Amino acid sequence: MVAVDNLTVSYRQHPALHHISGQFVAGALTAVMGPNGSGKSTLLKSIMGLLKPAGGQVRTDTPRARIAYLPQMTEIDRSFPLQVRDCVLLGAWGSVGVMGGISRSLQARADAAIHTVGLAGFERRAVGSLSSGQFQRVLFARLLLQDAQLILLDEPFNAMDARTTAALLDLIHQWKAEGRTVIAVLHDDAQVHAHFDQTVLLARELVAWGPTAQVLTEPNVQRARALAEAWDDTADICHNDEVLA
Ligand code: ADP
Ligand code: MG
Repeated sequence: MVAVDNLTVSYRQHPALHHISGQFVAGALTAVMGPNGSGKSTLLKSIMGLLKPAGGQVRTDTPRARIAYLPQMTEIDRSFPLQVRDCVLLGAWGSVGVMGGISRSLQARADAAIHTVGLAGFERRAVGSLSSGQFQRVLFARLLLQDAQLILLDEPFNAMDARTTAALLDLIHQWKAEGRTVIAVLHDDAQVHAHFDQTVLLARELVAWGPTAQVLTEPNVQRARALAEAWDDTADICHNDEVLA
C-alpha cells in the first residue's frame, strides 16, 4: 500500500508537487504521466523517502528494503569499473549484508537474471562499455534479484530500442503476475493505454488519478499541457538544493 496525503514538495520554496492526494492500487501497474517538469521524478523520490515533503506525507506499509527504485538514466553514473555480473549482484545487497558473502545459489540467480534480460555472455563486460539499452537491461536484472514488493521506475524505456522495450514490458507484466506493485514514469500514451491499469497525471498539481482510460483523455492531457505552458514564463531552475531526508 502506498498513499499520498496532501503532499507538497518544494525545491527552494518552489513547489514541484502541490497538494497531491491519492492511493496507488496494490498489485497494479500504475503510470505516472505529465509534461516535462511536472513533478514525476519528484513523486518517485518522495515515495522512496529521498526528499522531505514541505507539507503532507507519503504513507506506505512496505519496508524500505522491499522497495526498488530505478532512477532516470541521466542520474546514473556508470563510469565506475564494474562488471555486469557484479552490478546485478548489487541488487541482492540488502539480503546478503556485508559479511554474508555471495553464495553459489546467488551467483546462479544473478546469471539467470542476466539470461532473462537477454544478456547471456555479457557477465564479465564492464558496464561502461555497454549501450544504453544493454545497460538498462542490466538494471532490470538487478531489480529481478532484489525481489521487491514495490518497484519504482523512472522513464525506464527512454532511448530504448523497440526490442528492449518489449522485453522489459514482459518483465513488468511478470512482476504484476507475481503480485508486485509497479509505479513507472512514462511518456508514451499508447504504451500506457495498452499496459498500465492506472495512471497518475501530474502538472505539479494533480490533474487526474485513476483507471488509465478515464485519466488519459484528450481533455485531461490538454489541461496538463496548458498548466505546463503557464510555468514557462516564470521558469526558475536551480539544481543544487534537493532536500535530503
Ligand atoms: P519531471 O520528472 O516531471 O520532469 P521533476 O520532478 O524532475 O519533473 O521536477 C519538477 C520541477 O522541480 C521542475 O521544475 C524541476 O526543474 C524542479 N527540480 C527538480 N529537481 C530539482 C532540484 N534538485 N533543484 C531545484 N529544482 C528542481
Ligand atoms: Mg523526471
